[in-house]
Amino acid sequence: MDEVTQLIAGSRRPGSSGRELSIINPSDDSPVTRVIVSDEADVRDAVAAAREAAPGWARTAPAARGAALHAAANAVEAAAGELAELIHAEMGKPVGDARDSVLAGVGTLRQYAELGPVHRGRTLAGDDEAIDLMAYGPRGVVAVITPWNDPVAVACGLLGAALVTGNTVVHKPSERTPGTGYRLATLIAVHFPAGVLNLINGDGHTGALLSSATVDVVAHVGSTATGRAIAAACARTGAKALLENGGKDPLLVDDGVDPAWAAGQAALGAFANSGQICVAVERVYVVASVADAFLDALVAEADAWESRIGPLVDRRLRDTVDEQVQQAVKDGATALRGGSAPAGPGAFYPPTVLSGCTDEMAVMREETFGPVAPVAVVDSFADGLRRASQSEYGLAATVLTPSMSHAQQAWRALPVGTVKINAVFGGAPGGAAQPRRLSGQGFGYGPELLDEMTVTKVVHLEAPPAGW
Ligand code: NAD
Repeated sequence: MDEVTQLIAGSRRPGSSGRELSIINPSDDSPVTRVIVSDEADVRDAVAAAREAAPGWARTAPAARGAALHAAANAVEAAAGELAELIHAEMGKPVGDARDSVLAGVGTLRQYAELGPVHRGRTLAGDDEAIDLMAYGPRGVVAVITPWNDPVAVACGLLGAALVTGNTVVHKPSERTPGTGYRLATLIAVHFPAGVLNLINGDGHTGALLSSATVDVVAHVGSTATGRAIAAACARTGAKALLENGGKDPLLVDDGVDPAWAAGQAALGAFANSGQICVAVERVYVVASVADAFLDALVAEADAWESRIGPLVDRRLRDTVDEQVQQAVKDGATALRGGSAPAGPGAFYPPTVLSGCTDEMAVMREETFGPVAPVAVVDSFADGLRRASQSEYGLAATVLTPSMSHAQQAWRALPVGTVKINAVFGGAPGGAAQPRRLSGQGFGYGPELLDEMTVTKVVHLEAPPAGW
């Protein structure tokens, strides 16, 4: 791969800070990417480049913007293999899974390429010769700040929606996947006029500089702590904060389900991407009547998942996950499977099943970004629903039940943005999501993201008085 640089007004140049980030492959500790971090002047230059390109891009016909995005999607698709290898090397996702997630990103780019040009306002008739128009326009300069756990798919959504609606962008990918972020941005940017998509590099410090700059929107996908810092920065500058943050998603397993099937769902939700998914299953409530069979099957699932999952992104995250697990065991939980980091290179952590968990344990309250399924047995579906509803987060929840009435009660009661009945993942491609409370604000996905990326101008239009 080329040297990883910034991309500002169509030119590539290294960051000016002199500070270097180096990325280590979490599978074998080998060096992967080195990048020089952007400094304050670089951030200023990138925002200025985006600002300068904004009027021309805003005036570009929506169909032409959509065509540019289609061309970018084709380029990303053609480079899917290369991007998958990069994702694997930088954050550990198995190559096949990484390729699937790149192709999901390509699908999202194509959806926005089609939807952008038909995104339209509304009208309201007044008197005979009067009409109110609601016209959508771009917001201006959008800062797109993204995480490492699904680096291409997540960035494609925000970049696609921002660009197709006529905004210009300054993108800062995660400091843990800078090579992937750079390659994706350069593949896309070449299909747009210079300055429409700019890239800067760095960690939270660079992100904080960008989210305090004079941009119009800060779109952040990442942790809750960062989202709150960005919300505070936006409160000072007046920029709109669009936040898709962490979660503590419950899975509720009802009486009458096939315990083996339910365990398969729980394992998929807790162990896929080594548990590093915002909507991973983070805590399990199982009704007593099926609990023993469910736990036996979940342990068998954990055995089967061991050879399929990659490492965690780094050892720092592994230590955090392990601390939560060890504390839960100290406080009375039982590790039925896994529960400690293996010796050897890399940042691997085994699929872990904890039984006897209580709601006071950190592993049941705080986000655990690792392959851990903490389980609590509940007396009844109502008891499980009550406990599943108690969290400061409000991202998503899953309910496995044969009862239509329980499904209806659950989707109404759960205070989260997305409720999934009888499948931990899935949902139609292009589906929207609107997290609540500590999990964020605004629609980060789906056609509704086009609304978030645009601003509405209302025009009262009347005929001039007769006789002019
Ligand atoms: P993170 O918030 O640490 O980092 C994400 C991005 O924010 C990075 O580019 C980082 O450099 C930047 N950043 C860090 N501190 C900043 C600051 N003070 N100001 C501005 N930018 C800053 O998150 P992460 O560890 O990369 O990603 C994992 C988290 O992302 C998990 O909590 C996960 O649940 C969440 N996530 C949420 C969704 C969703 O749709 N809700 C999707 C994927 C990941």
